Amino acid sequence: MNELVLLEKGEPEFDTPAHIIEAGVRALRTGSTRYVAPEGIGELRDAVAGRLRTRGIPATAERVIVSAGAKPMLAYVMRAILGAGYAALVPDPGYPGYRAAIEQARGVAIPYRVTDGAGRFRIDVAAIEASITPWTRVLVINSPHNPTGGVATEAELDALADLALRHDLYVVSDEVYSEIVFGDVRAGSIAARPEMADRAVVIDSFSKTYAMTGWRLGYACLPASLVAPVRSLVLHSATCTPPFVQAAGIAALTGPQAVVTAMVRSYQSRRDATVAGLRSIPGVTTPLPEGAFYVFPRIEAHAHPDSVAMAERLLAEHRLACVSGASYGTRGEGHVRLSFAASPECLAEAVRRIGRFVEGSSPAPGYR
Ligand code: PLP
Repeated sequence: MNELVLLEKGEPEFDTPAHIIEAGVRALRTGSTRYVAPEGIGELRDAVAGRLRTRGIPATAERVIVSAGAKPMLAYVMRAILGAGYAALVPDPGYPGYRAAIEQARGVAIPYRVTDGAGRFRIDVAAIEASITPWTRVLVINSPHNPTGGVATEAELDALADLALRHDLYVVSDEVYSEIVFGDVRAGSIAARPEMADRAVVIDSFSKTYAMTGWRLGYACLPASLVAPVRSLVLHSATCTPPFVQAAGIAALTGPQAVVTAMVRSYQSRRDATVAGLRSIPGVTTPLPEGAFYVFPRIEAHAHPDSVAMAERLLAEHRLACVSGASYGTRGEGHVRLSFAASPECLAEAVRRIGRFVEGSSPAPGYR
């Protein structure tokens, strides 16, 4: 196998389930082709609120706003909360979209560390507290976490909620991987705590759970005070989220969930095989991801401490595309991120290529 192995994208290799596609097509054929309300179609907002309540979040449809994915919602929320000079705390390593959204809102992103202790990635609550200043308005959390796959425990969420209350912070909780958890791990939400009703923003999306990355559909459940400003940002930018896409979202939430269970089960077996393979390579340390579909090994190849150079060499010499750990922040250095939402054959080949890279053996014949 000499082809390029592509594990760099955060995208399920599965197709969108057929009944969801059908709902979108049916909606197009039956006239869902006009402007709709900026906050989203009532039926979808109801379905979203219902789904959030099953996770213990006291959501109501009035507090749900629909958007073209989680990413634009992050931008709206940061613009609604921040302003010049205000700070938002972001995980490091963490999803690069947070910094971009904060800086576009003229705010300042302050990284806090996510540590890989005892084979599990953890948010360092004490480090967060030490970074808070009078300018800090927002704490961004992401569980399950991209790129490490770490999932915050209820005790950690309690500690973060307590910190947000004491320092009067909004918590922007990015929960786009909440349904993708393995074994008996459960992804709780900080917004399930009643005292967070006025300060927690839950952001979620259909992209990962339902393999709908290209449809562009997401939402937030907002504190009452942020509903009007975020609605106005949608109204005066996107106008609305396409109604046929929202129809597909209604089908996703109200239709059979066995499709999600089956995808998660298959991610779990891919995770297990990939982690076992990586752990068999000397000099590679691989904590077990508890959720999402990324593995974030630390590669102690002495000649290549720079993760950007590592990712470049893996691509150029071993034809394996992955993302450098440094792309997720300075504390990602030394790591690379591989998506295991790919075929088992590609994952097995990726492990072999990383093994060869670490051994420093020359690339196999046929590589360009
Ligand atoms: N948040 C995290 C942590 C992500 O990994 C991603 C996409 O990779 C997003 C948000 C954006 O998702 P969407 O496709 O809904 O915009």
